Amino acid sequence: LQLEALKFEKMEIVSHLAASISHEVRNPLTAVIGFLQLIGENEHANEKSKSYAMYAIEEANRASDIINDYLTFAKPHSNEECLMKIEKEIKKCQDILHPLTLKQNVDIETFFQHEGSIKGDPHKFHQVLLNIVKNSIEAMPEGGMLTIQTIKIRDRILIKITDTGHGMKPEHIARLGEPYFSLKGQKGTGLGMMVVYRIVDSMKGTVNVTSEIDIGTSITLSFPSIS
Ligand code: ADP
Ligand code: MG
Repeated sequence: LQLEALKFEKMEIVSHLAASISHEVRNPLTAVIGFLQLIGENEHANEKSKSYAMYAIEEANRASDIINDYLTFAKPHSNEECLMKIEKEIKKCQDILHPLTLKQNVDIETFFQHEGSIKGDPHKFHQVLLNIVKNSIEAMPEGGMLTIQTIKIRDRILIKITDTGHGMKPEHIARLGEPYFSLKGQKGTGLGMMVVYRIVDSMKGTVNVTSEIDIGTSITLSFPSIS
């Protein structure tokens, strides 16, 4: 038992460390990308420097992707837990994602059957929705439809996120949430869904995935409803 407690404490320290490092690295990284963009656009720079700047931007963006997928996971026990109105939180995420959905030709539709509350840290909950929705958008390179639906069933609130993307094979669904599992090559981190499972679990929720090739994917989150 003591060993378990020690292991838990170690995990806590590692998580907090990862969280602060992610936060600290994020701002300088944004600055680096900004300056590289300036170099890339500088009319006095020669073609070679411009292409070097482009490679550097690509790599820096990759680092930033990893931080973005991981940031909240890094602090699984922050004490910002509160009651969240799911409709409000989903709308916030919709706003954050608006430029991306516009760019990718994706329409978002929401159906709120229930304006309920769940318990958790809003930052973490946003991370969950963002990681799921980002995957959906990436599964629809030609554009498509994203539906977010809330349903109340007895003492649970379900949030169902459906896309009309390329779908997943059963053997890939089975691997969702496995660290570094990604079918996106250099473009993927394989951390997004691991973070989703981890956070939802910490909120006493569950994740259910159904998918059909060339039809789309549905991810249903279920949380205890607080009334
Ligand atoms: P990443 O997005 O960085 O690859 P994730 O953990 O977010 O890592 O997702 C793992 C893999 O699961 C993705 O590479 C993709 O192949 C698959 N996947 C996740 N969500 C969807 C979806 N909505 N539609 C199709 N495939 C998906
Ligand atoms: Mg992802």
